[in-house]
Amino acid sequence: MLLESYQMNVAPPECLPSEISVTAAIEFEDDLTELLPYLNAEFGPCVYDKTLPFLRFRRDGKVIAIYSKQIGIAGLRDEGEAKEVFEWLRDTINSVAGRKATIKPSDRSIGDVKPLDIFKLLPRNNCGKCGFATCMAFAAALANGDTRTEKCAELFHETMREKRDQILRMLGKVDWQH
Ligand code: SF4
Repeated sequence: MLLESYQMNVAPPECLPSEISVTAAIEFEDDLTELLPYLNAEFGPCVYDKTLPFLRFRRDGKVIAIYSKQIGIAGLRDEGEAKEVFEWLRDTINSVAGRKATIKPSDRSIGDVKPLDIFKLLPRNNCGKCGFATCMAFAAALANGDTRTEKCAELFHETMREKRDQILRMLGKVDWQH
């Protein structure tokens, strides 16, 4: 199992003493370099730089950065939440490692995805059920990695299948089956 042994340091952000959230830095001996393109496909859209290498994405208000031998998590309530989020991450990383053969690795980065290209494929009825006032706002959030396609239920109607798959391909999630 990956990341079985690790060291976690939890501290308030040094540069923002008034900030109420805390950050966690987790270091480990396992090397995730080779797994990062697969994690990019799983967690995407992410900011991904394969030269560093480095992967960053947002999930439930947290900012998560994965390096070869380190993970950083920001926006945490406390140390207990840091452990919860890390355990979820560790489970997911191990799951991805076990499913590698079925995942197409992605070297796309969210900077490569244009909101307007996503918008053209959305239902465009501005119903607001995704939590955004307009489909354009939802498209921009998707391109930034601030929300997930699943938030637009209409996109998952059978009639939208082709457009949905195009969006998922743009986001580097070509192998996701919905
Ligand atoms: S739920 Fe879908 S159709 Fe409704 S506003 Fe959001 S993106 Fe547009």
